[in-house]
Amino acid sequence: MENPQNLNNIEDENAYIENQYQEMLAIYKKSAHRQKIELIDKAFRFAVDAHQGVRRRSGEPYILHPISVARIVAEEIGLGSTSICAALLHDVVEDTEYTVEDIEERFGKKIAQIVDGLTKISGGVFGEQASKQAENFRKLLLTMSEDIRVVLIKMADRLHNMRTLASMPQAKQLKIAGETQYIYAPLANRLGLYAIKTELEDLSFKYEHPDKYEELSSKIAKTKESRDKLFEMFSAPISKALDALGLKYEIHTRVKSVYSIWRKMQTKNIPFEEVYDLLALRIIFDPDENQSEKKLCWEIYSAVTDQYKPHPDRIRDWVSTPRANGYEALHVTVMGPLGQWVEVQIRSRRMDDIAEKGFAAHWKYKTGEKDDSELEKWLQTIKELLENPEPNAIDFLDTFKLNLFASEIFVFTPNGDIKTMPQGSTVLDFAFLLHTDVGTTCIGAKVNHKLEPLSYVLNSGDQVEILTSKKQTPSEDWIDYVKTARARAKIRSLFKKEYRNIMKKGETSLKELLDSHGQSMSRDLISQMLEHYGKTKKEELFYAIGKSQINLDEVPKLFFKAKAESKWMKFWKLQFGSNKKEAKETANTNKSKVLTLTESSKNYRIAECCQPIPGDDILGFIEDENKFVVHKCQCPVAMKLKASHGDNIVSAVWETHKVLSFPATIRVNGIDSQGVLSRILNVISEENEINMTKVNIDTKDGIFEGDITLYIHDVEDLNNLCLNLLKVHGMKSVNRIENDKQGK
Ligand code: MN
Repeated sequence: MENPQNLNNIEDENAYIENQYQEMLAIYKKSAHRQKIELIDKAFRFAVDAHQGVRRRSGEPYILHPISVARIVAEEIGLGSTSICAALLHDVVEDTEYTVEDIEERFGKKIAQIVDGLTKISGGVFGEQASKQAENFRKLLLTMSEDIRVVLIKMADRLHNMRTLASMPQAKQLKIAGETQYIYAPLANRLGLYAIKTELEDLSFKYEHPDKYEELSSKIAKTKESRDKLFEMFSAPISKALDALGLKYEIHTRVKSVYSIWRKMQTKNIPFEEVYDLLALRIIFDPDENQSEKKLCWEIYSAVTDQYKPHPDRIRDWVSTPRANGYEALHVTVMGPLGQWVEVQIRSRRMDDIAEKGFAAHWKYKTGEKDDSELEKWLQTIKELLENPEPNAIDFLDTFKLNLFASEIFVFTPNGDIKTMPQGSTVLDFAFLLHTDVGTTCIGAKVNHKLEPLSYVLNSGDQVEILTSKKQTPSEDWIDYVKTARARAKIRSLFKKEYRNIMKKGETSLKELLDSHGQSMSRDLISQMLEHYGKTKKEELFYAIGKSQINLDEVPKLFFKAKAESKWMKFWKLQFGSNKKEAKETANTNKSKVLTLTESSKNYRIAECCQPIPGDDILGFIEDENKFVVHKCQCPVAMKLKASHGDNIVSAVWETHKVLSFPATIRVNGIDSQGVLSRILNVISEENEINMTKVNIDTKDGIFEGDITLYIHDVEDLNNLCLNLLKVHGMKSVNRIENDKQGK
């Protein structure tokens, strides 16, 4: 058959097309696939019709391209009818009036999906914006995760385009060659399509560096004679040994590809002459049915190394542990007869097929059911391979800085833009990715048209429409909803600003309060407050004040003692024993013998454990020089102190009161009824005019119980309050409690 460009009438051209198609079909017929000739035929006729009258740049009828792609798919990748049909139809949707729906109607859902995938990735990768390669490659991967056949057919498409690249203008050649080098060759390698990978690399190299390519090709050609001689010399003793073993085998030479020679020269900075592994030997054997491939590999290894000395560091056993992409072989490098290293690759026929065609060949070797379910299994294998790259498969991902793949998801905006995000990203992450304002006002999203909350974890392929509201105010727990560093940082800075504002407000409020009491913000005061409120930094303290978590009203009573003392000492006075000796005598026995301490000489605080108030029997404990802690006499802590540090106990009495208030906690419980809680609070704050600092009342199954912390002058007032509270309808008991554990 003549070159189609020279055909001068339509009949000849049609005959040529038919012939090309039949050649492709013949290859398929020889395969182990189920013979779905009718469907393939239908796809072919449909494609012929769709591309009618269209020509490639080379002048040949367009349909010859899909036929060639289908042939690569069948012959070089080993795929079946679904892929062949999809390959025949792969440019129909993109280049003709037909739609994906038209394809689905005629060829079913699966083929239509693959054609759709091919159409989608085609536009971008072949588009004019070369800078968008990376993004497009991700789209490619995304589609791949749906059906790996899309990528395999794309690979065939690219291979054919590379084989016919000569007819393209030079600028386009460079662009396509670059893309091939950057995207498709590594992908072919990753998929185990070594033959295709090598050809893609060589073709790219040829268009990118035509002079170098020519130079190296001619050098390889020139060394052919000496290589052949070496091969003869080298392989003869091996053949003899293998014959003696009674093996069925072939020995081939494998000459390093032009591109890999060039790359070796580049990376090792050596001239062509020093590329020692230019020649490799490949021994392919056909085992008998019951022979173990692995055992035979090592028998051959033994025969080879009987003849030649192996390089100790260059044995690769991919038989025991195949590479992640399925490659199996035993490699050994030995010292040849002329003193150069020669690599010997030992493979069974099956291993060789896998090496050349990838997993498709693997599948071919699985006998028995040869329907789509088996193919599905294989596709699943590759998919998993790509999703969970094993260590030695990482190279591929590193090449593209796409180690994100396993940990990245692809999410669509409502108008179809793809955004990549780390796996585990939520609706809120996505909102912040779009815009900070979208993030801060986000109230949820429609994910695939279904309403989902901020915290919803997105999946690859989700289409997300963010819903916002001006009324939304971000909250600090949003940090827990986001995965991306970006959203985290945004939320943090948002709250840092707010945090600072609240802190400032708190600081100002405290300062105003101090001013109005003639106090200053001393280090001592701050450290007392920090201790009391369980804060570690003054910023936290100011923030708590700004947030009204700390009631400023209680501050003067709690912390202004030292200065306020002079005022309130007029009304009441604590009297302590003046010295230890005296205190010792009086502490437990004689209360009449207490001494009054002068204002200036004493310093004391109310014990937190028992919270004594005027009217309680109390004692003082000397904490350190001139500092006392006042406990109730019956306080367990005080009891212990009496026993262990009796010397430091002094007796003390309240003298007068009714001006200062002290914290006390009461526990109430009773039968719940409507309004009962508000009546309780009313009795306390309105009728008895007592300030509460903390109210914590639970109701459960018709019972209420809770604690109320309040400021009270003395025991008498407290007792009155308790009596008043007991009058509240439903109240069962009101008790003063000493601390968290102890009821009275
Ligand atoms: Mn194409």
